[in-house]
Amino acid sequence: HQPLQPLQPVTPTPVAAEPEVPKKKKIQKPYILIGAGTASFAAAQAIKEKDPLANVIIIGDESVAPYMRPPLSKEIWFSEDPDVATTLRFKDWQGTERSVFYQDDSLYEILDDASGSDVESEKIKLLLNKPVTKLNVEDHTVTLADGSVIFYNKVLLATGGTPKKLPQQPESDQITTFRTIDDLKKLDKVVHSGARIAVIGGGFLGSELAVALANRASKQPDIQITQIFPEDGNMANVFPSYLTKWTTSRVRNLGVDVKTNNVIDGLQVQDGKVHLSLNAGSEELQVDHVVVAVGIEPRVDLARDAGLEIDEQRAGVMVNAELEARKDVYVAGDMVSFHDIQLGRRRIEHHDHAVLSGRHAGLNMVEPARVKPYRHQSMFWSDLGPEVGYEAVGLIDAQLSTISVWAKSTDQDTPASAPQEPHRHQTSSESAVAPPKASPSLADEKFGKGLVFYVRDRKIVGLVLFNVFGKVQEARDIVDAGLTSDKIDGLLNKFDLYSN
Ligand code: FAD
Ligand code: NAD
Ligand code: NAD
Repeated sequence: HQPLQPLQPVTPTPVAAEPEVPKKKKIQKPYILIGAGTASFAAAQAIKEKDPLANVIIIGDESVAPYMRPPLSKEIWFSEDPDVATTLRFKDWQGTERSVFYQDDSLYEILDDASGSDVESEKIKLLLNKPVTKLNVEDHTVTLADGSVIFYNKVLLATGGTPKKLPQQPESDQITTFRTIDDLKKLDKVVHSGARIAVIGGGFLGSELAVALANRASKQPDIQITQIFPEDGNMANVFPSYLTKWTTSRVRNLGVDVKTNNVIDGLQVQDGKVHLSLNAGSEELQVDHVVVAVGIEPRVDLARDAGLEIDEQRAGVMVNAELEARKDVYVAGDMVSFHDIQLGRRRIEHHDHAVLSGRHAGLNMVEPARVKPYRHQSMFWSDLGPEVGYEAVGLIDAQLSTISVWAKSTDQDTPASAPQEPHRHQTSSESAVAPPKASPSLADEKFGKGLVFYVRDRKIVGLVLFNVFGKVQEARDIVDAGLTSDKIDGLLNKFDLYSN
């Protein structure tokens, strides 16, 4: 339900009316931002804020301008508008209407080809449908798939990630991964015509999508949703096991047939159906469509070929605390392995980190005399429908030991009733949805509302706020302070856990 976007639309600077404006300004050597996603857009805005005349070019291989991905697995599916996959406008959990696009196309200078890098314009320039095939850090150039070459002043790599496939996955229209607007459109068509759908994967994407699709199934009886994954329950890589079990029971109550502890060992398309074999053939399943949500592979090929250092353990491009990989080469978003001064080396696959790291890289690119370390402790959120949601800061990993505190929740403790936090108007575009449908109150449920502290070497390194909203800054302060776990009792009064 949350924080989408600090990214305020950039208003083009009004053209100066003074007659003495020089006839032809010298075009600056461009800032090239590779990948037209969230991190690049945040960087472009930051550069333009500091230098409105900067020549900023975002190059992307998708056909559309930068957009936010979080609503694609959440609020969009709760919209009452049958054309939502075309309009891409949706209501956030609080009811505010939004677009997935950060800004209207008219606010960009949309270029046809690389020659536009010399065009005079104060807008952010956008080259779409143009894969970048080469980065040459010695010559300061990027090469596009059409062979054209652009010189850069500074470059940002923000190429995100590609969805992983299952080892035995055949090419078929009936098996899809899910990351882009095109993927959304495709799945929306499948759902419209009614289908039995299997979602593979029990992580963020699989769990959010299964719940979102089950919401459609609640209104359209010809849809059935099954979710299959190898772990004990939903979000098992993130939550302690009792919370995973509870979450799984909630997902089941929302109408998903969740099959835990299941390994897929066969996937075949035959006679118009996808045939799944589970656990060495102990169970067979036939569905009309399969959505594979088994994680992403960061897109580091350009960086690797350019000779940049790859963090093989985290599968990201290695940068220093300033987000620089080599001189004049910055990296941000899902694909960066960065040095978190508080928590050590990390790679983070979440929206707020893409915004904050993109923005930070942009500022460091445009203000070389004021280069600063990336100290922002980013947050992330996930919602399983409008009634269960959590926000988190720091290291959230089921392998760490945890200390949890729970209280009974009330109807107010849901993503839909979350207050508009100060960071939300910055971090977020409040995507959103129809009001929650009538449902049993969470008040009597065991894990209605609570805090999970993640501890490493006695220090609090992460915090999940489960159905507790408006407290991200408090969580961030605790992680930043590096407090030990014996301080937890004294911290609880910051969270109003027992109010309402
Ligand atoms: P991206 O947004 O992936 O952008 C990278 C862009 O670069 C892409 O358009 C790609 O096509 C392009 N590109 C790649 N290589 C090239 C090349 N060689 N040439 C040109 N272009 C290239 N996070 C949360 O915190 N909360 C959520 O609720 C949440 N929900 C999500 C829901 C979905 C469905 C998905 C897919 C992700 C979600 N995330 C969420 C994660 C979040 O969206 C990502 O962390 C974020 O998009 C990362 O931004 P990025 O700019 O690094 O990469
Ligand atoms: P993930 O890394 O969160 O989860 C991967 C899941 O894949 C695992 O939980 C496991 O269940 C499953 N898996 C792995 N191998 C499997 C196999 N062989 N068979 C069956 N299941 C298998 O990745 P994701 O859920 O695919 O999400 C994709 C990307 O989108 C990630 O970067 C994620 O962070 C991002 N995303 C984030 C949010 C959020 O922050 N709220 C929401 C949606 C997506
Ligand atoms: P800065 O000058 O480097 O910040 C650059 C920009 O990023 C600012 O416009 C700031 O408002 C924005 N920003 C920074 N952190 C953000 C966050 N977590 N969410 C949304 N936007 C954020 O640094 P600063 O503004 O002096 O920030 C100092 C400290 O305050 C940092 O630790 C930062 O994380 C925190 N902060 C938090 C929030 C928030 O959560 N609501 C907002 C701003 C700053």
